[in-house]
Amino acid sequence: MRECGTPNVPTFSALRKLQSQLTREVGIKTEPHTSALGNQFYMNHPLDLLALDWANPLVRKHIQVYPEVTSVIKEVWQADKWLKELDNNQLSPMWANWKDDPHRHFYVNELAQLKDGSFVIPICWVIYQKQEHAEVYRVHHSEDFMPNPIRKVAKDRPVFCLRFMAWCDDVSGNVSKQYNAHMNMYITNANLPHQNLSQEYFVRFCSTSPHTTSLEQFDAMVKDVGKWKEAYDCFLETEILFQIFVHGLPADNPQQAESSSGASLNSSANCRYDTAGGTKEYKETNEGYNSLFNTGTPRTPFSTVQIIEEQIQVACLGVQDAVRIIQTCTGTKDKIAQFWIDKLIPMAREKQKLRFQALTSDAHLNNPKLKGAELDAAKLAIKKEIQVDLMAWLVKQPPDRYALLPEDSDHRFQLRPGDHYNSLMDVIGLNPHLDSPCEILHTYLLGIDKYIWHDTTKDWDKKKEELFAARLQSSSMLGLTLPPLQSRYIVQYKNSLIGKHFKAIQQLAVFHFDDSLCNPAVMDIWKATGELGAMLWIPEIRDLKQYLADLEILIANVLDVWAVHDPARIILKFKLHVLPHILDDIRRFGPAVRFSTEVFECWNAIFRLCSILSNHQAPSHDIGVTIADMERFKHMVSGGSWKVGGIYIQAGPCVRNFLSQNTELQHRLGWVENDLASIKPGSLKLKSLQKRNSLSWTAILQTLQSRQANTQLTEPGNIQGSIWNECKYVVSKARDICTEGSWVFCKDTMNPELACTARIYKILSPSTSKITSDGNRVVILEKFVILNSKDEHMNMPVLLRTDIQFIYALPMDIQFIFNAQHDCLGKKCPVIENATSVRQERNITSKFIPGVIHTDDTRFFVNMHALHNAHLLRESLPRHLVAPVPYFQNRYEKHAEFAASLRITGPAKRATAQARAKETREQNKQKKSKNINT
Ligand SMILES: [Zn+2]
Ligand SMILES: [Zn+2]
Repeated sequence: MRECGTPNVPTFSALRKLQSQLTREVGIKTEPHTSALGNQFYMNHPLDLLALDWANPLVRKHIQVYPEVTSVIKEVWQADKWLKELDNNQLSPMWANWKDDPHRHFYVNELAQLKDGSFVIPICWVIYQKQEHAEVYRVHHSEDFMPNPIRKVAKDRPVFCLRFMAWCDDVSGNVSKQYNAHMNMYITNANLPHQNLSQEYFVRFCSTSPHTTSLEQFDAMVKDVGKWKEAYDCFLETEILFQIFVHGLPADNPQQAESSSGASLNSSANCRYDTAGGTKEYKETNEGYNSLFNTGTPRTPFSTVQIIEEQIQVACLGVQDAVRIIQTCTGTKDKIAQFWIDKLIPMAREKQKLRFQALTSDAHLNNPKLKGAELDAAKLAIKKEIQVDLMAWLVKQPPDRYALLPEDSDHRFQLRPGDHYNSLMDVIGLNPHLDSPCEILHTYLLGIDKYIWHDTTKDWDKKKEELFAARLQSSSMLGLTLPPLQSRYIVQYKNSLIGKHFKAIQQLAVFHFDDSLCNPAVMDIWKATGELGAMLWIPEIRDLKQYLADLEILIANVLDVWAVHDPARIILKFKLHVLPHILDDIRRFGPAVRFSTEVFECWNAIFRLCSILSNHQAPSHDIGVTIADMERFKHMVSGGSWKVGGIYIQAGPCVRNFLSQNTELQHRLGWVENDLASIKPGSLKLKSLQKRNSLSWTAILQTLQSRQANTQLTEPGNIQGSIWNECKYVVSKARDICTEGSWVFCKDTMNPELACTARIYKILSPSTSKITSDGNRVVILEKFVILNSKDEHMNMPVLLRTDIQFIYALPMDIQFIFNAQHDCLGKKCPVIENATSVRQERNITSKFIPGVIHTDDTRFFVNMHALHNAHLLRESLPRHLVAPVPYFQNRYEKHAEFAASLRITGPAKRATAQARAKETREQNKQKKSKNINT
């Protein structure tokens, strides 16, 4: 800038100095930690980060302070964990009439008087019908007035609680393919609506480290839980006090297993939720096999800690195998405890060796009369003594942390969470076994979809790949909200697809498989997977009981069709066993998309940039400081307040409005200003002048009649003889962008009681000079009827055009968009060589590729695998067309059949594997001896 002649440019170091001073003032410290395992890392603490949310007007206005009782479940605070399970002392404890009487604070567990003079004791504050309500006890006798102890801490300031989601995973710090392992931890404020949380702006970075495991970082993080912290509430314009709690631990399955102190997903009891599983032989019994289709006995933090303690005790006896057996049988293996176990086993052995060897110095063993059993007993006694010594040593580890314990603390004599095992096992309001909800991106798209895609395509030759690609490319994309398909890429790189590809395949592939591409058993899996997939992605639940009942059948179907195709897969794949657990996750956390990890994965890109730009000497510290600076910048340009010398200040108006007025910055910080509000239901957008036709009504009727339509539509509105302009799209009531050709549910103006299914033909707006009201705009639609029974092969409702019938509807009457696909297989639509010309660099080239030519325009399927508007579609169709049908009536009997077949194939496979292993071992031996001889 100085080079350009700008006056008063500060030096670079002065700028950096001011920046770090401001970051300190705003209150984000990048704090050093040494873990129990001796590793060093830095953390920006959740408590500091979430304090900023109160002072940031762009965030504060969205914070939902109390849980909510609703019939439609969209957000986590409307689901069971928040609403029903939490102790009241983890919920915001008070309420006031902020507008009229902000200083009279009503706390829970205190006597309060209603307007009618009666007395109650509020138990908790909830939102009901958009209004704050209290659940209360009525008080009839005079009872003791107990001031809530929080009042003492609060000192007249309002008090609230926040809950947050803590995400953790290993991420590469490089953009290139060379992996540069880091363990990262991010959080989101769970009191914000999902619409906000799907934006990167709302993801907060806590820590990264190339050396530290997730459990060590969690240990530093959970120290914030339950602590009081002051913050400036820009909505109440006063200082408040708040606490934070962990609500859930979204992550991929291996990470969630680690957070739950689970052994690897290959161990015999590999479920983080329950103790399902067992030996290979057990899993092949009728009972054992069937148990994998269901949820088992839940694990609890208490039982897990007991198992961990047992492992440590056994390690103090010096027997590696015994520890391993406990870990294999129970499926519990804790990363922190393992660190100590690995130390204790050699220590125990060393001590035992010394004691056994030094017979002279040991009075018991020196006795020559000791033999056999007596000798063993004496040895055992020594082992036990050593065990006691080692346990006494262990509880004093790590010494620096032990030294910080109060003199009179019981913790001085016992194993401690964080120091000796996973600290998540002892966090108020958190049960890692239950609160690690199953994540659909990794489990479904990159799990179930990937397995079935692999099984379908593994034997395809080039010809089949080309056939499928041509068919897939011909799919109608209207109403799916998917990016353009790259079907040739999908088949070319069929073994290295990512989530977005599977999202498209799951919704569309099923329409293009004939027997040559996919055998009937596999086709059944595609159908079951698509049907369940659509239900898993729904964003809101209107009728929880019905939804969970339907989901239960659909999950059972997916598992059962897999068992038909390959019974062993149920045993081998955890991602199949985990599906029944989703029911409970949804009941406790709301729709499955609410605990998806997509936004965290997106944030990794920001982390990578910070990582590349650092000098790699102190990555945890440097990246922490860089991101703390970014948080400070975000806070200031969002209009946030911070405290300097006892008063709360804000940046000047130009800086604090920077974000809300600068779309480039919004884009960079991953912030979207309520984009739904800008799309108004019923609004239209005209086509560009070059593409727009302007026609008289008579001319429009002529085009309809040229399609053999038998309808006479009178010109709408009270003005006759208008010129009608074509529009690009109309916005439906559900805020979908509907273009020509889109399939919609709409109200029929001729028959307003009925919603009908139709395809948009033209969207028209009278020429501007004559617009009098919205009522004059009109959408012309082609009506299709839905048959009363589903198509048997596809298991989907059928749209049929009996005769060509055009109707019109007002833009406001377009309810929502849905996706439909032509019945190409039924109508035998051929794939023609050279059907489509290829585009390169935006231009049409002289190259051609094969494509599908549709043979008619009468029969379509309502795409029941489509994710977008899946819930609206299911509400609008008759129940008998959408109700799921169980694949097997008597599941147990069928599972027993499969188990019987496994009892034959399983042992045979194991015998072959063993024989092969033996052979390899012998070959290796021979090679070795040859090498020695030569
Ligand atoms: Zn399980
Ligand atoms: Zn077709």
